[in-house]
Amino acid sequence: MTDPLDLDAFRENGYQLIDWIADYLGGLEDRPVLEPVSPGDVRAKMPAAAPRTGEPFSALMRDLDEIVAPGMTHWQHPNWFAYFPASSSPASILAELAAAGIGAQGMLWSTGPAITEVESHVLDWLVDLTGAPQNWKTTSTGGGVIQISASDSTHTALVVAREECRKRSGASAEQMVAYTSSQAHSSVEKGAIVAGFGHIRLIDVDEEFAQRPDALQAAIEADIAAGLTPAFVCAAVGTTGTTAIDPVRAIGEIGRAHDMWVHVDAAYAGSAMMCPEFRRLQDGLELVDSYTFNPHKWLFTSWGCSVFWVADRKPLIDTLSIAPPYLRNAATDSGDVIDYRDWHVPLGHHFRALKLWWVLRSFGVEGIQSMLRAHISWANDFATWVEDQPELEIFAPNPLALVCFRHRGGSEATQALATAINADGSVYVTPSLIGDDAFIRVSIGSTSTEQRHVLAFQEKIKALL
Ligand SMILES: *Cc1c(COP(=O)(O)O)cnc(C)c1O
Repeated sequence: MTDPLDLDAFRENGYQLIDWIADYLGGLEDRPVLEPVSPGDVRAKMPAAAPRTGEPFSALMRDLDEIVAPGMTHWQHPNWFAYFPASSSPASILAELAAAGIGAQGMLWSTGPAITEVESHVLDWLVDLTGAPQNWKTTSTGGGVIQISASDSTHTALVVAREECRKRSGASAEQMVAYTSSQAHSSVEKGAIVAGFGHIRLIDVDEEFAQRPDALQAAIEADIAAGLTPAFVCAAVGTTGTTAIDPVRAIGEIGRAHDMWVHVDAAYAGSAMMCPEFRRLQDGLELVDSYTFNPHKWLFTSWGCSVFWVADRKPLIDTLSIAPPYLRNAATDSGDVIDYRDWHVPLGHHFRALKLWWVLRSFGVEGIQSMLRAHISWANDFATWVEDQPELEIFAPNPLALVCFRHRGGSEATQALATAINADGSVYVTPSLIGDDAFIRVSIGSTSTEQRHVLAFQEKIKALL
């Protein structure tokens, strides 16, 4: 019998697991990005019932090789060009382990003072590192909190917007309208549904797929004339489809003029703001009430790390703070501390800040900047190569490291090309559509991707033309 609580065994098993992770990451290039898996294959390898008595750790490790790895889509693969990256890094992986080892729950300052203060401090650092407005810091009127996903951040913003609108106008949620572009991520619409908004308007975009302020203004006026109450507007800095950049300043001015909550979804693009030369893409942030971006996409921090900032934390806390007697404590009563349970929907708060802190420290700001700039320059080179191919054309601008292109032969030819690129599983791209127009998204930014992988990918496409 093995003792599941034996700490000497834990030590040994832990060393083995770190070896396994290093071998896994180092060996990805020898695997396909997409393992050949059919629905049910993974479950078919598992026993029908859970074990009655404890198994040795070696059996658990064996099934990482036999069940898990062959049943994966390998997001850390250097030939990962699909969706957006979910970039991880060694310090982030180790921080997840350290946080699990400490095993604390930081719902209140007093249940994890270091969880709370590291998080507030690192997110204040990030305000400076991304050139965000100074009042977003916890040392000023605002502050940041780490949520699981951008969907959670945006949902939270919508709930606060609803309460602010109710207080200001007396309108019911059914009378309230949320606005975002027709190219916005589905999480905006989903968040508005969950928050109970009566109406959501998907605003028209221009020829570069950015939200049109004139169309937003017209939609707001029509809704007011119909007796509805505009409550929330979201600008996307980097849409999921094509990384289109909505004009934050123009949208912010319209939102302010109508007393609406102005939110920015920069889930992917926000990481690029570590490099000052890209901050022009989000000019106007001083007009914004809340902002989200995902270090778990493109800041080398493993999945489950979305930063959510507010310019003023009072409406957020007023909306989400409920204090049952068993959560009362002297630190909270003093009003001197942040209790992160009041900053999001869940009560519990995980020590996600540790991985972000360790990533920033292990790379250094310059290390991160040089990785991001490399991804963006390889993407620019790839776009130039696409333009040089007589069979291909660029579909949308590439302000960052996502290149969208299509086959000049039309949507069918484009879809056929995407299928051919993905066919053997050695690389992975995402085919997409806007209206009836098919295009292929190539997102460069996996931590392990080097320029040679992008060049080999080009050769692969060339051979399929
Ligand atoms: C990826 C993405 C999201 C969703 O992110 P999650 O963290 O998975 O919820 C939201 N908005 C944009 C623009 C995205 O690209």
